[in-house]
Amino acid sequence: MHVTLACSPADGQLSAAVRNSDLPPVPPLLRSSGSVEVITGSMFSGKTEELIRRLKRALFARQRVQAFKPRIDDRYDPTRIVSHQAVAVDAVAVATSQSLEERVAEDTQVVAIDEAQFFDRGIVEVCERLANRGIRVIAAGLDQDYLGRPFPPMPDLMAIAEEVTKVHAVCTVCCGPASRSQRLSIEASTVLVGGAESYEARCRACFEARDVPRTER
Ligand code: ADP
Ligand code: MG
Ligand code: ZN
Repeated sequence: MHVTLACSPADGQLSAAVRNSDLPPVPPLLRSSGSVEVITGSMFSGKTEELIRRLKRALFARQRVQAFKPRIDDRYDPTRIVSHQAVAVDAVAVATSQSLEERVAEDTQVVAIDEAQFFDRGIVEVCERLANRGIRVIAAGLDQDYLGRPFPPMPDLMAIAEEVTKVHAVCTVCCGPASRSQRLSIEASTVLVGGAESYEARCRACFEARDVPRTER
């Protein structure tokens, strides 16, 4: 399935059945309940799918939405958020949390951020400020790195969030619920952007906290 919601790539404003410019001004009361939601878990756990599901609901509710992703994550498409199932929404790729904040329009009601673990630590304060402005912030990202360590800045983001949703993949070894991302290559840097060729989902018991070359498996 490939669903694309129309949007202007320049400002990241999404529109499904309606355009943001067609909507009436937002009454102040409706803007007062900002919050931070975090969707987290291992790779292939459906974080991006869940983010897109929430975005689509917001669009159906005729809310003004902007979606962002870090510029580092160009696995599938530099200007869209794409799940492993190839479901996509348009997004703006930004290099820093400051750049993200600068691009949030005055009347935006929902800000979605995918791959939040790739942002600098400033993303935590940016999310806090946006929520304080009355914006619903939904951030999806990995909670652990390839060694099973907390993946900054996700722990801090989870701490300030009103709501944290942990989603699970299926362990590729035992088919149980997976909470960790097993790296398949010997690459030792924390950030190695990749998909199924580089990582697989594992549960606590099947996860090995080390680099495992394919030839050893
Ligand atoms: P995430 O953003 O958490 O990496 P996505 O939302 O992009 O995950 O993709 C989730 C999809 O990945 C699932 O719906 C499924 O089609 C696919 N998938 C591939 N491998 C697995 C796995 N081991 N467990 C669960 N889903 C998997
Ligand atoms: Mg994802
Ligand atoms: Zn397992």
